[in-house]
Amino acid sequence: MELEVGGRVTVRQGAVVGGGPWTPGQVGEIVATEMIDGPSGPLVSYRVHFGDWFDTPGVVRTYRFLEDHLDALVVVLSERESADLAVVRSALAAVVPDLERELGRPASARADNYGDGVRLAIEGAWQEPFQHSRNDEEAVKQEIADFVQSILGRDGVWPVCRAHDFGLHPDLIDGVAVWRCRYADHSVARVGELDADNHP
Ligand SMILES: [Zn+2]
Repeated sequence: MELEVGGRVTVRQGAVVGGGPWTPGQVGEIVATEMIDGPSGPLVSYRVHFGDWFDTPGVVRTYRFLEDHLDALVVVLSERESADLAVVRSALAAVVPDLERELGRPASARADNYGDGVRLAIEGAWQEPFQHSRNDEEAVKQEIADFVQSILGRDGVWPVCRAHDFGLHPDLIDGVAVWRCRYADHSVARVGELDADNHP
């Protein structure tokens, strides 16, 4: 077994850790390695991506539940929320109300760590990794709104400007993410603040 980025590791026994409980035989991929301060000195930490189990915020944990392994093996099941992830999660929370008003129900939407970046899952559609403007929450709102529009726009135009019966697009105006009507070049609402009039 290769203990390098790209290497596969297998759960040896069930253990309630991070996003667990884990299933014996479950396979993960090492996506990053780094040196960390262990209880008795420096250790190599392996960050392992177990597919959908990787989204739970957590801490550096666990030894010895992967087969064939060194006592010193430490798996970072998921990191503390990075500043980058915090910006994306905050922006996502701001955008989701537009999506939920359109769906008429709670939306499935989440952001989590992915390799050295962030990934986004909205209503079963993924951006992995999610390429975004770092540390500019309004710009990230615009980028997420664009993704939401690509999902909801599959079945037609969404959202619309009722004044001009024209499709809206997310834009960044004076540093603020807004839904923009290009027909008359005006902002209809901040991203996340559409109302029923903007449904097609
Ligand atoms: Zn308009």
